[in-house]
Amino acid sequence: MIGDTCPLCSSKNTNQLDILFKNRSYCKCDDCFLIFSDRDSLPSLYVELERYKLHENNILNKGYRNFLDTVLQPLLLYINKTMTGLDYGCGPNPVLSLMLHENGFSCDNYDPLFFNNIIKSNYDYVISTESFEQFQFPIVDIPKIIALIRPGGYLAIMTETWKSPDQLQSWYYLRDITHVSFYHVRTMNFIASSYSLKLLYTDNDRVYIFRKINNGRITLL
Ligand SMILES: [Zn+2]
Repeated sequence: MIGDTCPLCSSKNTNQLDILFKNRSYCKCDDCFLIFSDRDSLPSLYVELERYKLHENNILNKGYRNFLDTVLQPLLLYINKTMTGLDYGCGPNPVLSLMLHENGFSCDNYDPLFFNNIIKSNYDYVISTESFEQFQFPIVDIPKIIALIRPGGYLAIMTETWKSPDQLQSWYYLRDITHVSFYHVRTMNFIASSYSLKLLYTDNDRVYIFRKINNGRITLL
């Protein structure tokens, strides 16, 4: 079945997948490999807020700290203590910035729902953990984030990427009503080439660290 227009690359070369979660269907873009939920089932702001309030992540939660370390440890190889970073999509209880502060690094918090403060536009690095899968229109959100990073700065993303179509029906990551965009390693390469980023590091699972190689303007494909 023909799918909706891709909310990352605008391609109409999409197909509806044979998977369903709570009456939500999914499409795959054959150009950038994004899998996205059907447009009629996107959660409202109220549903998102209620879901996020259930998150019990805090600085004392050892398991959550270990989880964040999967992006923090490789990122520490690229940044230094004179740099200023931003945790984009930090949620109601920011932990990553506190972990960076513990190590002598500087990091601001931003979240469109919980920390909607004015932020700078030339960060040395931006970290976004467990947010990309919630972007309903990544074509809008991703350039907004990249514009916050100075040329030569870093973007560290943590979002679990899909590997094979066979995994999807039973994939736990789909079973969160706020998760609406799922990336493949090919999607990450598409993002790199479209937004003038260079992929520096990936664990080929959930962590992707890029360097912004110019002013971040969209490169026409
Ligand atoms: Zn696409």
